[in-house]
Amino acid sequence: MTDLPMYRNVIDGKLQAPASGKYLDSINPATGEVWARVPASDRTDVEAAVDAARKAFPAWSALPAAGRAHYLRQVGDIFRKHSDELTRLELMGIGCQARKSNVPTPAGGLSFLWDRAAGLTLDAVTGRSVPLDANTMGITRREPYGVVAAIVPYNSPQGMASSKASLAIAAGNTVVLKPPEQASPAILRFGELLAEILPPGVVNMVSGLGADVGDPLVRHPDVRKITMTGSPDTARMIQRAAADNLTSCIFELGGKSPNIVFADADLDRAAPGVTTQAIYTTNAGQACVGGSRILIQRPILDEMLGRMEAIAKQIRIGDPFDPETTMGPLISQPQFDKVTGYIEIGKQEAQLVFGGRYGPELVPSRPGGFWVEPTLFMTTNNALRICQEEIFGPVAAVIPFDTEEEAIAIANDSRFGLASGLWTRDLARVNRFIRDIRSGNVWVNTYLQTRYELPFGGIKDSGYGHDDIMEFTVEKTAVIAT
Ligand code: NAD
Repeated sequence: MTDLPMYRNVIDGKLQAPASGKYLDSINPATGEVWARVPASDRTDVEAAVDAARKAFPAWSALPAAGRAHYLRQVGDIFRKHSDELTRLELMGIGCQARKSNVPTPAGGLSFLWDRAAGLTLDAVTGRSVPLDANTMGITRREPYGVVAAIVPYNSPQGMASSKASLAIAAGNTVVLKPPEQASPAILRFGELLAEILPPGVVNMVSGLGADVGDPLVRHPDVRKITMTGSPDTARMIQRAAADNLTSCIFELGGKSPNIVFADADLDRAAPGVTTQAIYTTNAGQACVGGSRILIQRPILDEMLGRMEAIAKQIRIGDPFDPETTMGPLISQPQFDKVTGYIEIGKQEAQLVFGGRYGPELVPSRPGGFWVEPTLFMTTNNALRICQEEIFGPVAAVIPFDTEEEAIAIANDSRFGLASGLWTRDLARVNRFIRDIRSGNVWVNTYLQTRYELPFGGIKDSGYGHDDIMEFTVEKTAVIAT
């Protein structure tokens, strides 16, 4: 136990042990074993971090854009130089598979986020000018908020930490970042490297539980913007806590996204599209945009089910570091209990199409891992719990339909509105679908493809979506008469 790696908070440019002296165990999801320890911080550490961020803000925000961009490019170099180490820590932390095409955030690729933020600092954060009359000009300035609280979920820790922190500081804010308690080491190691580059206090990291660190952070009066990715219930708690200070919040939350296959679709693309990347092999289904409700038009139902089962049988569950592995474990025992609970509910309320097994027998060489096999249910009742609640694991439900109107109605019958997929060759249907579907992101004949230049939407219980660096700026209006 004593020779386990011990990580520390990053506060004011220094690595700091938690004030309480207490630590949390980090569990390797593929073995169930403790492999690292991270600070169990509390309000005292949060206050020190917010204080450091507040003090760093005037000088950081006053830097010319090119000065900030210079720092951001150097942060990008961290991922170029330390990609192997940071990828290994991510795999140990969340158990996503090492196979390059399926890792949600291969650490090396994250340099792109920082390089891109450096460019945005220079080009995107600009104001508008609006003449009022011959002698009067209106202008706007985009200004940073001040201290930003960045709260990160477990399923893509490094990607989320980098996307939030890079944009926030590019816009001139300073940051206090809370890593997810299940998978903090990769972020905290990144924080150590960051501390060697950025001026003290520009990015601080405080690890610990949501109630001990997240709650005092979002209540802090010096925090002026909260960016949180996670579940709707946590977001509701945060929004209530932020209400006293009227702190502005951006939430990117969960989903129960419909992926709809019409009989005229190219099934060679649709079958793998709805089966692998959309659900099972993206982080073992622990993906906010997972297409976990698969609507299939009746004439192709049997064919699609057959194709999907054949594809699912090719999925190799196992050690995330094995290059043959295409699907890793779930993150933790609680998540395993939650997902397998839904599998048992599904067995009661719907028809099991394939899968349904879980536990050590799936990967006998790693009996302590949190293994669940790709599982598919079928039902005609979209009101069932397995169709309405976010399971966040490799479990999906097929719902057959006859008409386009019926498909849209089923797709929109959800309290979530994060993403949707449509597989068809009919362009008129595509246009109708994009208009009528109630989701922030729509994919047509593809799934999950995106670029950071595109806003990432969300409505209803899926949050508010966000629009890149602009979310981290406040627009000030000035009217000047001569
Ligand atoms: P979670 O809501 O349990 O936790 C998210 C973060 O909030 C963690 O860092 C946690 O410690 C913190 N937190 C918990 N309680 C808090 C409190 N009272 N105050 C402040 N912070 C608190 O989510 P999770 O289980 O880590 O992640 C899975 C969820 O995230 C799923 O619902 C998934 O769909 C969603 N997600 C959404 C997106 C997106 O872009 N829309 C991306 C990834 C994950």
